[in-house]
Amino acid sequence: MSIRFDISATAGRARRGRLTAPHGAVETPVFMPVGTAATVKGVAQDLLEELGVEILLGNTYHLYLRPGIEQVRGLGGLHRFMAWPRAILTDSGGFQVFSLSGLTRVTEQGVTFRSHLDGASHFFSPESAMAAQIGLGADIMMAFDECTEYPASAERARASMEMTLRWAARSKRYFEEHKHEVPWGGAVSSFEFRVAGAPGDGGKEDSRNLKPETRNCTQALFGIVQGGMDHALRKESALRTIEIGFEGYAIGGLSVGEPRGLTREVVEATLEHLPADKPRYLMGVGTPEEIVEYANLGVDMMDCVLPTRAARHGLLFTSEGKISIKQARYAGDAGALDPNCGCRVCRRYSRAYLRHLYASNEVLAQVLNTVHNLSFYLDTMRRVRHSIGLGESAHFLSGEQAEGNS
Ligand SMILES: [Zn+2]
Repeated sequence: MSIRFDISATAGRARRGRLTAPHGAVETPVFMPVGTAATVKGVAQDLLEELGVEILLGNTYHLYLRPGIEQVRGLGGLHRFMAWPRAILTDSGGFQVFSLSGLTRVTEQGVTFRSHLDGASHFFSPESAMAAQIGLGADIMMAFDECTEYPASAERARASMEMTLRWAARSKRYFEEHKHEVPWGGAVSSFEFRVAGAPGDGGKEDSRNLKPETRNCTQALFGIVQGGMDHALRKESALRTIEIGFEGYAIGGLSVGEPRGLTREVVEATLEHLPADKPRYLMGVGTPEEIVEYANLGVDMMDCVLPTRAARHGLLFTSEGKISIKQARYAGDAGALDPNCGCRVCRRYSRAYLRHLYASNEVLAQVLNTVHNLSFYLDTMRRVRHSIGLGESAHFLSGEQAEGNS
């Protein structure tokens, strides 16, 4: 077993489901917080659990450069290394290679790139990207793809899509031959976490965290649909990726600078060709309004750095719209950040205090802002799942609506 995906309700094209992964169940549609370097910046793992995070995203590129795959594998894999007992998804590293490393050289074999940390030269191929992700041991890993830039000519979009398809087949082949090498799979039976026991009890197992079934589990590999902004290419990419056969399908190559309306069109045009019984993952989107919209279109999984990155810049999402907490107008504001939000930040602190922390460049500002933004995204998805469960399509709630619903 790797993953199971069960749909319990639909509303229009939206689906309410449960993805059962080796490290726990994930209610879908789900928003996955990004834990780039084995941490969701500023938020400790126990708090993420309390917020109800069921799956995190890790970035293969960053972990490959630091601390290194062998280091993580030697410490039992990413779950154990970062003391996160629930599900994890890792990306293939492709997107970061193209977006962060500046100088890259792409050949049929793979991509040569320079580390953004020290300029050293590295090489990723579909095979080495799979090996890296198997070493990290996330529940779900992604095929190695080339993220087509925007704008791209028709020829360029096709050539890039064809290469992604060849790389997908190579990714699948390598994965099938090596999936038993996952740090927690196969014969490993001592999979336990030292996260729940009291200090000094020697890491007593917590029945909630211990997943003995991981013994016979493997990771799941998802394919990625590319094809630029062309609907016909997207369809062809979807059908040929499905032919290779994956346990879930992602829509890649979006949020690369194209207008938002175009993103939505391409998402719709791609979704209709993806199998209904497999999870569908839209990579790298979006605002709270957008994640609701995409869930309504039938997307099951989404991730985005927006809530965490914006939080660190003092941009907070609320039921009354976006707030820039650095503004002087909040200096004397004793009200809660979002009166409709039940998160621990909104229950306890005033806008004035959050503004003060931010203006003083206090570490706590980043922590509290991130906790609220993540809560807001997770609550938004909770409401989306609730609506779909009732057979209704979800809508992004404004202030009074959120209050009436809470
Ligand atoms: Zn809040």
